[in-house]
Amino acid sequence: MREVRIRDTLSGAVQTLDADHEVGIYACGPTVYSRIHIGNARPFVVFSLFARFLRSEGYKTRLVINVTDINDKIYTAAARAGEGSAQFAARMTAAYVEDTDRLGLGRPDAEPKATETVDGIVELIAHLIEGGHAYESGGDVYFRVRSFSGYGKLSNRRPEDMDQGEESGSASLKEERLDFALWKSTKEGEDTSWESPWGAGRPAWHIECSVMAERELGASFAVHGGGSDLVFPHHENEIAQSEAAGRPFAHVWMHNGMVDSAGEKMSKSEGNIFQLSEALDRYGREAVVAYLISGHYRQPLAFGKLPMEEAVARVERLRNFFREHPVGYTAWIEGGVTLSPTADPVSATGGPAGERVAGFLDALADDFNTPRAMAEVFELVSEANRTDIPNAPAAILHMLGLVGLASLAAGDENADAAAERMMLERQDARAAKDFARADEIRDELASMGYEVRDSADGPRLVPKS
Ligand SMILES: [Zn+2]
Repeated sequence: MREVRIRDTLSGAVQTLDADHEVGIYACGPTVYSRIHIGNARPFVVFSLFARFLRSEGYKTRLVINVTDINDKIYTAAARAGEGSAQFAARMTAAYVEDTDRLGLGRPDAEPKATETVDGIVELIAHLIEGGHAYESGGDVYFRVRSFSGYGKLSNRRPEDMDQGEESGSASLKEERLDFALWKSTKEGEDTSWESPWGAGRPAWHIECSVMAERELGASFAVHGGGSDLVFPHHENEIAQSEAAGRPFAHVWMHNGMVDSAGEKMSKSEGNIFQLSEALDRYGREAVVAYLISGHYRQPLAFGKLPMEEAVARVERLRNFFREHPVGYTAWIEGGVTLSPTADPVSATGGPAGERVAGFLDALADDFNTPRAMAEVFELVSEANRTDIPNAPAAILHMLGLVGLASLAAGDENADAAAERMMLERQDARAAKDFARADEIRDELASMGYEVRDSADGPRLVPKS
């Protein structure tokens, strides 16, 4: 079992995970007011794979990713769609599950929903009021920020630089500008509400996560994760709510950087690819996963056609490697099965291949450095393409399995899907009058055994006889 180190946002220091206790991981999931985009998929992929790595190292691990299905944005989006908000949120939750299922990484151990947690939320708010940390005002309840001396320790902001980002209508109900909502009374146009000691209303966003995390993982758990855009106010407020109630919260805070499409001119079609489902349609599961782990999780990740095409090229390189070096395995099930779950993969593999596996695992243990880990994979691919390295294909398969990419070794049963994607790319190239690129893709397809026939109904892919 490797020592696993994580750069902690709260202390700013590197923290070592406690191997003697279950590693509970709570990551903030999506607010279901639209189909999720590729940025929402990043924490899902990072924390799913981090949990997979910890398990493979022998850490008892429990991964929780919640669904925020009560939120201002849901009321607005449901009204726009002409749908009841409960029905709309349920539909978007199902779409989120469907989209993330297609990533092929399995489900988290628990996926609590805010709508199923309201009783616990009411209880925590009542407890905070009793302790003087919260107050009722006009049917709303607010957290009294000045009552919690640790406020600001996560985001390191001065109170005067803090903006809770709440609607201006609530300002007159607050004792202080800095206070934030725990409970909101039902407003006009809101078609769901829950009973509480303060009247009909609904929980505010931050308190939902305090309660869901504690309910699933206990009062003190190992890792709280989420996007870096959530550090303030969301995570700062989660800490305040839980700790003011006398409940110790997360030990380590692990934040992923944002997926950044700022450099990309967002045409309509590129806007669509920004949706996870569209990116999966166009580039395939493996390329999307490979893209999302191509940068260190804490860094921002540039999104666009070019980085996605680079990811496609990388997975094709791996697929080609396995075409040349087939691995004799019968069934690989994505979602947690490793090549040899009991054996130490390094000593099992041995030699230069074993050294690469060791480097790969060390990189993941060092603040989950996926780009450094993947560099070990590609080094071994290059070496094994040059010269015969014993066990290289099995070692590469083992490493890819830990990052959800073992299907690349599944042989040519995926060739049709890859060819279909390349044909779509060729159509794009032709539409953009990039005929050189279109011809290049046609030649690539030919080398894979496919012929593109242009017909009146558009191009068709025909296996060459
Ligand atoms: Zn949250």
